[in-house]
Amino acid sequence: MSPSLPQTTIAQALQQTRPDIDATDARMLLQSVLNVSHAHLIAHPGQELAPEQAQQFYSLVARRAAGEPVAYLVGEREFYSLNFKVTPAVLIPRPETELLVDLALERVSTECPCKVLDLGTGSGAVAIAIAKHRPLASITAVDSSVAAMVIARVNAEHLVATNVRMLASDWFSEVAGEEFDLIVSNPPYVADGDPHLKQGDLRFEPHTALAAGSDGLDCIRHIVTAAPAHLITGGWLLLEHGYDQAAACRQLLSKAGFDEVFSHPDLAGTMRVSGGKRQNSPTQSC
Ligand code: GLN
Repeated sequence: MSPSLPQTTIAQALQQTRPDIDATDARMLLQSVLNVSHAHLIAHPGQELAPEQAQQFYSLVARRAAGEPVAYLVGEREFYSLNFKVTPAVLIPRPETELLVDLALERVSTECPCKVLDLGTGSGAVAIAIAKHRPLASITAVDSSVAAMVIARVNAEHLVATNVRMLASDWFSEVAGEEFDLIVSNPPYVADGDPHLKQGDLRFEPHTALAAGSDGLDCIRHIVTAAPAHLITGGWLLLEHGYDQAAACRQLLSKAGFDEVFSHPDLAGTMRVSGGKRQNSPTQSC
C-alpha cells in the first residue's frame, strides 16, 4: 500500500460533503458504504475509511449532488418500520402512504382470514406492511410492471411475508372473477403536466407510477369504476390521492355507489386517502 495515500476519517468525509449535499443524505450514504448504523458514525468519528470506501462514498455523493434519490443510491427505504429494497423500477415509499396502511389495518380483522387486494404495489410496501400486521389475511398484490414485480417479490421474501401473492396484472386483469374484503391502492395520481414531475426525486422515479392523465385522476377513475365488481358486499375501497383530489375522489366514489364515503388527512394535515364501502352491507362475518 502506498504510504502517501491520504486517509479520510468518518468526520472528515462527512464534513467534506457539506457544500454539495444535505448532511442527513451524506450520513445515509456513508452508513450504506460502511454498512454501519447512525450510532456507529457518531461513536467513531475518527475511524478511517479504506481507499475504496472513500472512493465509493464520493461517487455516491456526486450522484446525489446531481439529483439521484438517496433511496435509489442506497437501494433501500424504511416504510412502516420495515426495510424495503428499492430500485428505479419502483416508486420510493413515502411516509404519507403509511396512512393508507393504518386505514387498511383498521378494516382487516386480526381474527378472520380476510382477502385484500393492493393495486399498483410497486415495491410491495403497502401489501407487505398489511401482510406482516395481519398474518391471517391473504394479500394479493398486483402491478403492471414486471420489473416492479421482481422487486416486490424480493421484498416479500426478505421480509418473510408468506401471506402475499404477487401478480403481474394490469389493474384487475389477472384477478377476474375474484372478490376481496378490502381493496387498497396508491395509484399514479400526478397530472401529466405537473411541474413537480420535473423536480427532485420524481425526475428519477418511474413515470408510469406517477402520472395519470391531464387531471391525474385517470387511474383513480378506472379503479373506482371497476372495484365494486371485485368487492364483497360491505367491502372497503381505500385510495391514496393528491393534495387537491379529495373532493373529486369522494365524488367518484359516491357516483360509483359507495357508502360511507370519507377522506382522511395525513400527518401533514393534507387530505391524502379517500374511501368508501360497497353498498348494501349486511353484518360481515369471517
Ligand atoms: N405522492 C407522490 C408525489 O406526489 C405521488 C405518488 C403517486 O402518484 N402515487 O410525490
